Amino acid sequence: MTSKSNGSYLPVPEIREDTILQHSYKSNVNKEDPFRMKPPKLKPRYHDFNLNRSQNSLSAHAISFKEASGLIVSDSLLSPVYNRSSEETYFEQCFTKISKIGEGSFGEVFKVRSKEDGLLYAVKKSKQFFRSENYRHERLEEVKRYEQFSDHENCVRLYKAWEQDDRLYMQMELCQESLDHYLGVKKRIPEEKIWSILLDLLLAVKSLHDKNLIHLDIKLDNVLIGDDGICKLADFGLVIDVDRANRHEATEGDSRYIAPELMQGHFSRAADIFSLGIAMLELSSYIELPPNGPLWQELRSGILPEDFIKPISPELKQMIKSMMTPDAMARPTVDELLRNRKLVNLLQRRRRWDLIRKVKQSYRKSRRAVWSKLCNFRNFICRFLFSLITNLKLKEPPTTDIRTTTTTTTTGRGDNNLANMDNSFAVENSFEISYNQATPTHFGDAAMKIVNSTPLNHHHQSFRSRKDLTKTSFRLDSTDTKQESSNILSFEDYDIAPHSVSLVRNQLDVSSLRGKKLFSKADDSDSD
Ligand code: ATP
Repeated sequence: MTSKSNGSYLPVPEIREDTILQHSYKSNVNKEDPFRMKPPKLKPRYHDFNLNRSQNSLSAHAISFKEASGLIVSDSLLSPVYNRSSEETYFEQCFTKISKIGEGSFGEVFKVRSKEDGLLYAVKKSKQFFRSENYRHERLEEVKRYEQFSDHENCVRLYKAWEQDDRLYMQMELCQESLDHYLGVKKRIPEEKIWSILLDLLLAVKSLHDKNLIHLDIKLDNVLIGDDGICKLADFGLVIDVDRANRHEATEGDSRYIAPELMQGHFSRAADIFSLGIAMLELSSYIELPPNGPLWQELRSGILPEDFIKPISPELKQMIKSMMTPDAMARPTVDELLRNRKLVNLLQRRRRWDLIRKVKQSYRKSRRAVWSKLCNFRNFICRFLFSLITNLKLKEPPTTDIRTTTTTTTTGRGDNNLANMDNSFAVENSFEISYNQATPTHFGDAAMKIVNSTPLNHHHQSFRSRKDLTKTSFRLDSTDTKQESSNILSFEDYDIAPHSVSLVRNQLDVSSLRGKKLFSKADDSDSD
């Protein structure tokens, strides 16, 4: 539409009241794109550009604040995979980059696999160089905060941080996705789940507020869903200490979530409560939060869009409204919020489940331990019974049967001989025992086989030569040579049936045994 009334042909903007103050549902445009632009941070905190980049900054240095002394820049915390003399950076040497999973104002986040332990992690690499000492210290401050809350179940865990080439890198636990992404996919989240998410986040915020710290950047994008499905607070880049906070130190976070009092420079714990409240409104109504303008003002004056909050239960609605109270002083604290009946019940239920899970885990662990002990005990009993039976068998009194007697006598020489028997040998001779009517009890008795193996094994296939014979016999305990020979020789003196005697005598080369050729030096090498 153009107007000639003012003498100009320029178009006159059409302003429609009803479209200006209209909230909308979240749009999915570019939601899948991890690199989409986000509202910029309002105020940079660094001013000096006097960083002296030294040669030393080219190699990696681990950063930690775990020691009481404060910042530790150490090389001993670096991965053993890292080779300082290589051209590649620590990141390139120690990780395999899989994909880029996110990007914010300060950093890019990559999904990586560690070459040290083969596990998956997220590595956040700062986008900008440390252009000043101030800026560097601000970035390192995030490491300190991450380390402080790494053990909290509802905060993202930091494993390692290092600086190289004037950039900061942080190796963190890899989460499934951000809550913002989750909402974009689901659109409607069941209320029970929203209460559970609220509880997770209140517990995370409580851990910060209890330490006099404020997050200042709570938003759905900075809440990550861990592998266990638990919501975790991330991005501690803007965290400040309440006691030290002043207008110059604090930086506002995402304008869509900031509390109204921050515009006047009043930083307090209540700012986090407002951000969490408006994030819960977004989560439960799927509303598109405005970055500025009249709707932005409206949401900060205690007016919530009725159409959007209609489906929300009165209890949750009340909770969100109280968290978004325009007056920071009138806003409930995290402890007051955690006293909500629904949250108390939820927390109790969770603790009960945690307890049950822990009991189950320890039961499983102890069952495994008991089972392995039982197995050991069973093995011990089996071994004991086996040795008992073997001993009993060996100590049986001699019978009138010549072969049995011989066996018993032979075995009396010691169990070493049994240990030195080889299996094929045993099987071969058990045939001889049965052939010679040995009792089933002796069947398989190695001692019997020893005696029979030498002279009674008259089947020529079994021993192709005398060398074979001596070789086999040499498997006996060589320290017992004399006794062995004498025992075998005594075999002749038994009173046995004539046909047996002839059989035995025919097969035995007793003279060679007398001459102890059985254990001659020449066979020593063959025995190997
Ligand atoms: P901001 O502009 O909000 O300050 P930033 O530069 O500090 O952002 P992050 O918010 O820490 O960067 O990370 C950017 C995105 O990367 C997150 O929104 C999230 O989607 C993804 N991300 C960050 N850390 C992880 C992680 N540990 N596991 C999985 N994804 C992650």
